[in-house]
Amino acid sequence: MVVMRIDLHAHSTESDGTDSPAGLISAAVRAGLDVVALTDHDTTAGWAEAAKAVPPGLTLVPGAELSTVSADPVTGRQISVHLLAYLFDPASSALVLEQSRLREERRTRLRRMAEKMAADGLPVDPDDVMDRLPPDAAGGRPHLAQALMRAGLVESVSHAFDSYLAKGSGYYVGREDTPIELAIDMIAAAGGVTVIAHPFARSRGAVIRPETLAGLAARGLTGVEIDHPDHDAPTRAELRGLAAELGLLVTGSSDYHGTNKPTKIGAETTDPVVYEELVSRATGSSVVVG
Ligand code: AMP
Ligand code: FE
Ligand code: FE
Ligand code: ZN
Repeated sequence: MVVMRIDLHAHSTESDGTDSPAGLISAAVRAGLDVVALTDHDTTAGWAEAAKAVPPGLTLVPGAELSTVSADPVTGRQISVHLLAYLFDPASSALVLEQSRLREERRTRLRRMAEKMAADGLPVDPDDVMDRLPPDAAGGRPHLAQALMRAGLVESVSHAFDSYLAKGSGYYVGREDTPIELAIDMIAAAGGVTVIAHPFARSRGAVIRPETLAGLAARGLTGVEIDHPDHDAPTRAELRGLAAELGLLVTGSSDYHGTNKPTKIGAETTDPVVYEELVSRATGSSVVVG
């Protein structure tokens, strides 16, 4: 039997990964993957370069990871939720507008964080941080982590998060993310499918409640990413039960970020049956078969 290896969550230099879109395709080939999804934060800018680089034997799933928020039904607090979207029409005007708004906001916020660091005497040059970002890329805190590493202040991206970039740090600046209901509706209208990335990754902060997940499933959410490096075994078991109850598809993926994170591409994978189901439900764009 041929075993298909499918990784549906990976980042390039168009957001906070360190491989170019074409480099990401090469990494997928080297890892022996059959299918890889490109899911940069809030952008589809890498799709064309990645598609051109797909060799025979590999399939590319075009996607994105949308920055969204969900209001907690009890506390009213805004919970950050990453929403993976696949095979939507990248020219959908509502989506194009919202994603460019978010990228602009990401740039402003990145510069403000760099300015706060510089004002505090850290050897970080806001102009240099912004100049290094590709013109249409989604900037994020990992870009600041790189600047802190170049300055010799930290040894790794995760150390930079612990010491300088976490929400509680004095340098943190927030962002106005998309309400998740709106994001699910926009992707559905653009013919795509949606999967909540690492829904119960509690080390990242507050997470959504099971009742919220039920509401989103009723609204048209397609699936949840369960096999993810930020979910431990009990969390995976808990989520599997919920997904079965709610009729949600279940995926597994590495969330590869190149050298910005220790996880290797293909470290977690998705069942081929689930992959086929995702593809069959989407109408907005096609997979790229090499
Ligand atoms: P931002 O998009 O600016 O809010 O930054 C969040 C991004 O930083 C996530 O998409 C992750 O890729 C990355 N990240 C968050 N926490 C860590 C960490 N502890 N170590 C490495 N990368 C992290
Ligand atoms: Fe990221
Ligand atoms: Fe994420
Ligand atoms: Zn991701």
